Amino acid sequence: MWQRRTPEDIALIDRARKIRESRFNPVIPLCFAFFLALFSTLVCWAGWRGKWAPWGDPIPILDAAIRFPFFLVIGFLVIYLSRVLGLWDKQVPMVICSQCQKVDSGQPGQACSCGGELERLEHWRWIEKQKPSWGLRIVRDK
Ligand SMILES: [Zn+2]
Repeated sequence: MWQRRTPEDIALIDRARKIRESRFNPVIPLCFAFFLALFSTLVCWAGWRGKWAPWGDPIPILDAAIRFPFFLVIGFLVIYLSRVLGLWDKQVPMVICSQCQKVDSGQPGQACSCGGELERLEHWRWIEKQKPSWGLRIVRDK
């Protein structure tokens, strides 16, 4: 069954989400740019010479490593600016009705068809129902 989290937990979750989803937060673009630069550097090292050029011989690792900061800066700028300009699609959050507890995707604050208010699903948690302890128990002989 669904159970609403405590207001303190919800405040922590909302604060973390706002930081994570901020358009000006550079952490996610930096992570993407790092792996993109690492991949580009390795591909360069392996002998890639460009989209239309045939693969060449591998180059020394130091020659390839010199290109890493260039790839990192270019990748970061492209990804960060596209995020700041809002070119990334925002995900539609999962919501739950506070009355009928139906889960759907939508905007928090809207009304459910039953009249309840839709709330972010992360404000709730699923708790397994307790199984009755008087059920059959299988006992194995050793
Ligand atoms: Zn509802």
